Order: sequence, then C-alpha cells, then structure tokens
Amino acid sequence: MTKGKITKLSVSDVRFPTSLEQHGSDAMHTDPDYSVVYVVIETDGGLKGYGITFTIGRGTEIVVCAVEALSALVIGKSLEDIVSDFRSFYRLLTSDGQMRWIGPEKGVIQLATAAILNAIWDMWARAEGKPLWKLLVDMEPRQLIRCIDFRYLSDALTEQEALEILEKAKEGKQQREEQMLKEGYPAYTTSCAWLGYSDEQLTELCSAALAEGWTKFKVKVGADLQDDIRRCSLIRKMIGPEKTLMIDANQRWDVAEAITWVTKLAEFRPLWIEEPTCPDDILGHAAISKALAPLGIGVATGEQCHNRVMFKQFLQASALQFVQIDSCRVGSVNENLATILMAAKFKVPVCPHAGGVGLCELVHHLSIFDYISVSASLDNRMCEYVDHLHEHFKSPTLIRNAHYMPPKDPGYSTEMFEESVKKHQFPDGEVWKSILEKK
Ligand SMILES: [Mg+2]
Repeated sequence: MTKGKITKLSVSDVRFPTSLEQHGSDAMHTDPDYSVVYVVIETDGGLKGYGITFTIGRGTEIVVCAVEALSALVIGKSLEDIVSDFRSFYRLLTSDGQMRWIGPEKGVIQLATAAILNAIWDMWARAEGKPLWKLLVDMEPRQLIRCIDFRYLSDALTEQEALEILEKAKEGKQQREEQMLKEGYPAYTTSCAWLGYSDEQLTELCSAALAEGWTKFKVKVGADLQDDIRRCSLIRKMIGPEKTLMIDANQRWDVAEAITWVTKLAEFRPLWIEEPTCPDDILGHAAISKALAPLGIGVATGEQCHNRVMFKQFLQASALQFVQIDSCRVGSVNENLATILMAAKFKVPVCPHAGGVGLCELVHHLSIFDYISVSASLDNRMCEYVDHLHEHFKSPTLIRNAHYMPPKDPGYSTEMFEESVKKHQFPDGEVWKSILEKK
C-alpha cells in the first residue's frame, strides 16, 4: 500500500432544507435542516477518501472550523503510517495537547474527528478495493484491536477480553457472511411517523411501508400525551399485534415524567423507549430502565452519546437495553469498534441510529460487521432506516424486503455527487441562494 502522502484536505458545509417539509422533526428538534460536514482527503498518489459528520443546520460552520483546526494533524501523513498504528493516530487527533481542552472526545471537536476519521476509513477501504464492512470482516482480531484506544475502558473490557470475543466469533463467520450477502441485515423504519406529520400522512406512509414489507416501526413521541396515545394507537392498529413498535422521545422528559408518560403508552407494547431524558444522565436512564422493565419496555440510547467511556458506564449501570451507536457522533469506526465489543461483553444488542444525511449509508457497514465478526446473533437486533436524501450518494443503501443489503462498492459509502455538494453548499449554493433571497 504505497499511495503517497495526504497532501490535501477540503471541507464543505452542505445543508438540505428538510425543515420545509418537517422531515426529521421530533419533540426537541422541530425544524431540522439535515446537513453534513463533508471532508475530502487526497494523497499525492491519487488516492481519495470521503468522510462526513451529521448536523442539523445552524452550527455546521462551527464543525467546519474544527475540521480545519484538526487538518494539520492529517496533512503529510501517509495512509500506511496511519493504519499501521491506527490507535496512535486516533489518539493524536483526540488528545492533541491543546485542542483536547475543547473536548476532550466530545461535542464539536469529536464530530470533526468523526468526519476526518470516516474519510480515512473510506480511503483505506478503497485502497484495499473492499467495502468497509468486508475490510473489517477480513481483518485479523489483533489488527482490529490495534485500531481501538482502550484508554479508560480496561475496568470494563480489557484488550485480552476483546481479543477473545473476536477469536470466539471466528466460528461460523463464513456462513454468516454468506447469509448477509443473501438476506441482508434487518432494518426498521422511522420514515412514517415524524412528529410534524399529520395523521393522514402517517396513515398513508405506514400503509405504503407495510406494502413494502416493513415489520418494525418507530414513532416519535414526547410533545403531547394525548397526541402520542392517538398516534401510537393508530400505528398499532395498522401494523397489528405481531409487528414491532418502538417510540422515541428525543430527550424530552425528566426522569419521573419519562416513567409516568411511557407507562401510559405501555398498552401499545413498544419494544423500547428511545432517549427518554438527557443523553448524559446515565443514572437517570438506569432508573427509567428499572421502572419500565416490569412492563417489558427497554431503554435505547446512544445517538448523542459522547464517546466510548459513556457507553461503558451506560452498560455498567444497566442503564440501557439497546445500544444505539452512531457513525458520525463518536470517533468513527475506531470508537464504534470499542462500543460494539463492550456491548458484546455485556450481552446487550447493538441497534444503530441512522437517518439524517448519509447515516444509513455508513452505519449498516458496522451492523453487518457486528453480526459476522462479533455478536453472531440477530436477536433483538436491527438497524434504523430513514428514506431521505440517499439520492445524493454515489453508493446509496440498498434495502430489500426490509433488510440492508451489504454494499459492494469499495469504501465506506460516503462519497456524494459533486453536483449535490455544489448545489447545497451553505450559503452560496443555488438551493440556499434562492431560499435566502425569499426570506
Ligand atoms: Mg432517535
């Protein structure tokens, strides 16, 4: 692998005006404009890597700034240098002696780290001519472990334990890979029931989803209890008693309120309540988990979980029953590998968060890897799917019979069409120019 040194890193603020149609609206984010910070890295040997992190409009320019601040740590390195000691490179980005003060490993700087590292992983997979999931599946356990920064984890998961989990899962890998290629990884849909959608829209989208073969549905809740009861009842009636329903409050409640509110929705038998309260409140989630366990309702969270250390504590405190990793919130594949392995040790299913722009494209690579190389189980496991904005990606997701089919193109499915990037650049792309002129 001698493809030269990284000589260029460019970053763009790309926004889609989704708030105009209430796509993505929930109890806390009522008008999201789905956006990405789009990073392209290039080597002098002609290799490219594309990376994103996800944002929802205003503030994207701050993440762009953070990427620019980190770019000096990337320029001049070769891909070979980076991936031969990926753990050290991860730490170089996340533990820079001055920049770590504005994190560490959380918030804007970690979103920026995610965008850059996603681009590096994309470049690596391209250099190997493999889709990212396959690059991971083909790696030896020791090589995978060398990508992970185990700092702060050893009280919950040691390197040796992580290695044993991966060694043990070697059994049956080939069959599971074949199964994935044939059947794909189970998905659920969040497209039917955004909070801002009318009942008519909800009914229409739900019957279309049923006709397409979807069996697992998520409903946004948390703004008004009577509305929630009406909407959950509507969906439960439409999907029938056998199919799966999940609810998502997007951090709306205090702890006691979450317990009371969800108890009132228990008759609709949700599998989980997602983000019932502040995403940082580990003990609060533990209290909610304990109170809802007798009702058969689990707690799911993770899309705004800062880093692997928080996931460690959520797992140690039995504060979640579903781990929702996100491909763009934490330190890319490196940090998600740590969380996937901790979840395996604690025997908690990983059900990734997706949607937004590109989150589906990226994260299903990790679900497929998780099944083939780590968990070896599909019990209570599924990956979120939202049917928006896939047309802007060169290797969009392929859903067949409510399953994510494994991507075939080399890379991490992160490359966008140049035209899409150009048109949606904020504020000078033509889409935004015309919107801003009308304001
Ligand atoms: Mg959510």
